[in-house]
Amino acid sequence: MRWGLQNLWSDDHEGGYAVRHGGRPARDFGPAASTRAGTITDDLSTSADAENFFEKAFPCMFPYGRGGIEAVRRVNVDFRNHVRWALQYHDRRFRKHETFPFVSFGMLQRREGLQSAKIQMRRRDFDTVAAQLSTLTVDKLKRAQQEEENGQAFSDPAVRTLRKHVHAVAGRVVGCDSARYRYRSQIWSTCAVFGAPSAWITINFSDTHDPIAQIFAGENIDMDAFLRTLGPDRDQRGRNIAADPYAAAKFFHFMAKTVFETLFKIKVSQFQVSSDTGVLGDVAAYFGTVESQGRGTLHLHMLLWLKNTPPPEQMAEMLKTEEFRAKVVAYIRANMRAYVPGLESAETVAAIPREKDLAYNRPPNPNAADHAEQVRDFEVRLARSEQVHKCQIKRCMFPNKFGRLVCKRKAPFELAQDAFVTEAGKWGPKRLFGLVNGWCPHILVNARCNNDAKLLTNGRDTKNITFYVTSYAAKKQGRNYNMSAVMAGKQPQSSLP
Ligand SMILES: [Zn+2]
Repeated sequence: MRWGLQNLWSDDHEGGYAVRHGGRPARDFGPAASTRAGTITDDLSTSADAENFFEKAFPCMFPYGRGGIEAVRRVNVDFRNHVRWALQYHDRRFRKHETFPFVSFGMLQRREGLQSAKIQMRRRDFDTVAAQLSTLTVDKLKRAQQEEENGQAFSDPAVRTLRKHVHAVAGRVVGCDSARYRYRSQIWSTCAVFGAPSAWITINFSDTHDPIAQIFAGENIDMDAFLRTLGPDRDQRGRNIAADPYAAAKFFHFMAKTVFETLFKIKVSQFQVSSDTGVLGDVAAYFGTVESQGRGTLHLHMLLWLKNTPPPEQMAEMLKTEEFRAKVVAYIRANMRAYVPGLESAETVAAIPREKDLAYNRPPNPNAADHAEQVRDFEVRLARSEQVHKCQIKRCMFPNKFGRLVCKRKAPFELAQDAFVTEAGKWGPKRLFGLVNGWCPHILVNARCNNDAKLLTNGRDTKNITFYVTSYAAKKQGRNYNMSAVMAGKQPQSSLP
């Protein structure tokens, strides 16, 4: 508001305001189609239809009261595109606003939910419900809409039945139940084509310390002549990211894409996905999900299917031969570690200083003469700082059924004098100190962040992980769809399960 007022008052003392709540609800679904198509006059601001939620609710974003999202204009600009444009606006006022990104995203999600909502019928109720539903008319649905808007219960029994017997599912809305079931079936169908996945990887990109994130947040950092001591300090970096969640999300996608393309050699273009030999082998397929932690930091989980992986029965057979096990062990040593010299015991680990913001760095330059040495040094410092687990009550320690505190991450982890795989497919990296969490060295060194890499040698791990990936991301959603709008706005479609 002040931006607009500063143009009017030279002394910047405009005084207080009493703002009365409006009596009419703001439409969630944008201006009515009739408004958008027909009534464009030369002076848009005088048109009664030109009232715009965004212009009124965010005067500091739209100081001239013009150009709001979905404002009436000669050429319509779609909601999603306009919000995307606003978030990229050069002065960052939209993306740094306390509520604008959330309000816009909430509206978008709700609309997507409604647009793709489908009505599903349970088979055993089908006949009775179908009969009752056939009595529904547009008027009844309109009345129901009225009732819902007034906060009343539906008076019509057919509408109540409809509500009781259908699931309003929103297939394209991230995080809803049906999306979760769809992910699950996508994983199983990928298994049907490529067999069991070979690896499970988690990456927690360091958005607060990575210099790339800071550049997205507007800091001027010369990555070609990067100096750790220059640029924003730790506190400032944290503030930059906290103030600009859009930059944090952009950083996450940039890093995920970069890791895919450079380390795993997976290239995703608009129409196809191609792959080549990457650090973990030839990737046949992958499945990734994005999760957010409590403070909003994003992390990536992914399942990887490698080419030329033997099917489970053959794998079980091959694991009985020493030759094949030696190959698997070599693979574990190269890609899934829990030890490097320096991480022998609590004492040796404590002797290495913990550097909290090592991510504020660049990966070692592959053209440097001492590259191998640099990587070795960097790996041990990163492993010490990012991969040593510390049990804390309420963070990972919870009482078990006997009332004893146990770590839900199962620390301390199993020790092993060397990387191993048994005939039964049980495997592990070399680990001399039990609180060291395994990592993938290529990810650790290049993304400079905490990560986890696991080999999947049997179907049981795959099953557990599939359920973890597909259920954790989406806790059961509350009933936040506008049911009457679904029922009135969409022709009910029934489908037998
Ligand atoms: Zn723990």
